Amino acid sequence: MIQLIDIDVEHTMAEYATDTVLRNSVEAMQNAVTDDVAALDGRTVWMVNSTASGGGVAEMMPKLVSLSRALGVDAKWAVIDVDEPVFFEFTKEIHNLLHGAGDPELVDHEREIYEATSRSVADELAERIAPDDVLVVHDPQPLAAGAMVVEELGVPAVWRCHIGSEEHSEKSRTAWEFLEPWISDYDRTVFTLPAYVPDFLATDADIIPPAIDPFSAKNRRMKPQEVATVLARADLIDTGHPVEQFGQPARRLQADGSFAPATEPADIGLLFRPTICQISRWDSLKGFVPLLRGFAELKRDARSAADSSRSDDHRERIENARLLLVGPDPSSVADDPEGRAALENLEEEWLALDPELRDDAAVIVMPPDQHESALVINALQRCSTVVAQNSLQEGFGLTVTEAMWKRAVLMGSDTGGITAQIRDGKDGRLVPDSGDPASVAETLDSVLEAADKWDDWSYSAQRHVTDNYLVFEQVTRWLETLGLLVR
Ligand code: UDP
Repeated sequence: MIQLIDIDVEHTMAEYATDTVLRNSVEAMQNAVTDDVAALDGRTVWMVNSTASGGGVAEMMPKLVSLSRALGVDAKWAVIDVDEPVFFEFTKEIHNLLHGAGDPELVDHEREIYEATSRSVADELAERIAPDDVLVVHDPQPLAAGAMVVEELGVPAVWRCHIGSEEHSEKSRTAWEFLEPWISDYDRTVFTLPAYVPDFLATDADIIPPAIDPFSAKNRRMKPQEVATVLARADLIDTGHPVEQFGQPARRLQADGSFAPATEPADIGLLFRPTICQISRWDSLKGFVPLLRGFAELKRDARSAADSSRSDDHRERIENARLLLVGPDPSSVADDPEGRAALENLEEEWLALDPELRDDAAVIVMPPDQHESALVINALQRCSTVVAQNSLQEGFGLTVTEAMWKRAVLMGSDTGGITAQIRDGKDGRLVPDSGDPASVAETLDSVLEAADKWDDWSYSAQRHVTDNYLVFEQVTRWLETLGLLVR
């Protein structure tokens, strides 16, 4: 019922501190947490969630735990190991209701299974946890089990909600009403953004945004030749030189509807042309379609003879620009009908474009290997002129954080966590209405015009991420919250 997860230390504090940009962040963290680490001495901090792999929470947990340990906190990561499909169906329903979807009638039988299963998990957890320990429970799945442990042992406890929804509806209220009695057993809660805190928790909530690891394969520094090599290994550029290919390269949608190497029917021009790139899961809420339509609209407008409002450089930039719409290998949506439908819908949109526009916009699927795809994300974010994230809704938007960290020029939609990250006109630009192609075209036009601002925006963006959204800041905020709790 409970699985303790081993954590490898991938990078030591000393290694992080060798990086000139990171040294200050590492030092600031070490100085900020001294009292909190002392307060936590003799206690184990238990991080409890429902999965050891897949998804943002599982990706973030090893960094959080290993950095806390390196700072002197005895932290452990436990995953609840539940073999009861109804339990997860029920928590999925709660998740959907919080986002305003699904049937608000909770089924008594499912609710009973959630509670009974939580009881078994709690019994096992309580055997391992000492009354002085600290419990941090992530998301609704282990919420009730954690609450039962708190009732039994009286341990200090925090509930971390990673769900980012501003939804206020009868559906979301039903879900919160179900969660509230369990949450009330915890001392504090933690949310991603202030807007996601429900009213009844307004005074008990801390805000800790997600964060990225600057040394992960997706974010580590790459020299220009490494960027080029990764692109060549993934078949994204044609070099005419021998390269060691990835197991399975990236692939690009072709005019006949098939996927082939991305250098077919001709090299896209990455590294040389102005490139706009969006990388996301295949999900209609990620706004790929309005981004493609907006790009096409801008191209048509600049090609029309009537265009005299733009400078020659600006017009040429639009003329030469290429758009990359990038997402995971289709096998990732094989058993996900909504993801499959989103990809098929985008394919149809692209196939309906004029051939000339099809040369300028590429729909690309990533190599299926996770490590290789992380390297491709890293290289694409570094070689793109503009990184776009045109989501119609977005909990936080780690793709934005990742690109800002790499000093990309950002064009994001004005929603959720993207609005919190990109300060419009300071770190990049926000699309006022991401569902409207005309709004996308207008913003993209202004971004491509403002080449003299790109350096200012991208340096500011990197600074903003360094100060707020790196793991060091996240660990600092966590240890502050936990230190305060036990003091
Ligand atoms: N990502 C990935 N492969 C893909 C598309 C996205 O690994 O094909 C990564 C992306 O780099 C980011 C995460 O998945 O780290 C997506 O997080 P985000 O918060 O942007 O959106 P979510 O998918 O959680 O809605």
